[in-house]
Amino acid sequence: MSASGPFDVVVAGRGAVGAAAALGLSQAGLRVAWVGPASATPTRHTDWDSRVFALSPGTRDLLRSLRIWDALPQERITPVYDMRVYAGQQADAPELHLDAYRGQVEALAFIIENRTLMTTLEAALRFAGVATIDDTVTDMSCEGKGPAGRIRLGLGSGQSLVAKLAVAADGADSTLRTLAGIEARVSDYPQRAVVANFESSLPHADTAYQWFGPDLGVLALLPLPPVSPDRGRTSMVWSAPTGLADELSAMTGEQLAARVTDESNQMLGELNLITPAHSFALRLIKVPRLIAPRLVLIGDAAHAIHPLAGQGMNIGFGDVRQLLDVLKGREFYRDLADELLWRRYERARVEAVSLVQTTTDALQRAFGPLPAPLVGLRDLGWRAVASSGLARRLLIARAVQ
Ligand SMILES: Cc1cc2nc3c(=O)[nH]c(=O)nc-3n(C[C@H](O)[C@H](O)[C@H](O)COP(=O)(O)OP(=O)(O)OC[C@H]3O[C@@H](n4cnc5c(N)ncnc54)[C@H](O)[C@@H]3O)c2cc1C
Repeated sequence: MSASGPFDVVVAGRGAVGAAAALGLSQAGLRVAWVGPASATPTRHTDWDSRVFALSPGTRDLLRSLRIWDALPQERITPVYDMRVYAGQQADAPELHLDAYRGQVEALAFIIENRTLMTTLEAALRFAGVATIDDTVTDMSCEGKGPAGRIRLGLGSGQSLVAKLAVAADGADSTLRTLAGIEARVSDYPQRAVVANFESSLPHADTAYQWFGPDLGVLALLPLPPVSPDRGRTSMVWSAPTGLADELSAMTGEQLAARVTDESNQMLGELNLITPAHSFALRLIKVPRLIAPRLVLIGDAAHAIHPLAGQGMNIGFGDVRQLLDVLKGREFYRDLADELLWRRYERARVEAVSLVQTTTDALQRAFGPLPAPLVGLRDLGWRAVASSGLARRLLIARAVQ
């Protein structure tokens, strides 16, 4: 089979969501091509990757069914058993404590570095014989109708790929989405996420911490594999108002470590920077349709959200699960690109995605600058949730999906 096909499916986008989709489709017996520029993640395994994800137990189950989870280096995965979330930074700020034990779940999340996840996914794709093509999709057209029809993806190199179906996993600025004429509604958050890893003088006890505040934005410290039983390692995701994010990005390592030590009320003792800080623009992206003729959108190409709930990648993996479920339920007489099939996918995803988008957006706004009476109302609501066992169990039930 040449790299130009024909294939059953072409997956465009070599992030983790595209990789999982390509692997699942190949394991379902389809001829799959996976196209996109090779990732530029660092390759030295002694270093720590400051791009980390909190994967939900639901995502763990998907990765297990793809035979990826048990192939991951388990010493680089940190389970989160407790989450402590503070509405403010004062010593008496109301705390919301979620814990896996009382929520009756194995763990609230699993923290993993992007590089660790990608290395294992790429090895599995090679093993599965998926054609991996280092190129960029620049053009798209449909040819013919019904089972004889095809989609053609033109590439930056001038070559093209032909398949029955294309899956767009090419991220928030998806070219395939634009080529299909699907217009996304994009709103920029007035914040940037600054990420970096630290060693800490105190252990984290497998706990994730988060502080919300109008001047602060959202500061999260996620547990990484510890240095020793009494010294921790932690990964920061600080969604800071733009001015503050610029300030943080311009700091020296010592200045940044001192600032985070301070803003986190020394919860993990003294911090020491171990990876350079990087920053990311934050956007809310909503799309009116998740499908077009011979095209299915997944991952950030289909939705982007604020990272405060650590759910963007998880809903992308939820798309992959649904895509594979739709295929599994395909009637023998239905063509792979049958629109009816992919309407089932769209219907199943719209509600789940919109719920997460609405909740994270509302939380981001609630902790932005508010008139005084609304601040009082928000704090009241927070205390009510924090003191209700039922509300905490419901929050856990949502987070682990
Ligand atoms: C700071 C931060 C922290 C986050 N933390 C979490 C977390 O803890 N948990 C969580 O679930 N989510 C988290 N997210 C969200 C998560 O990062 C994204 O949802 C996820 O990375 C999206 O994956 P993707 O594969 O869909 O897209 P991407 O990772 O953006 O991959 C898209 C790929 O498509 C390629 N591409 C682009 N254009 C083309 C083209 N024309 N042709 C071919 N390929 C193309 C790109 O090169 C790239 O490889 C976080 C996000 C941020 C910003």
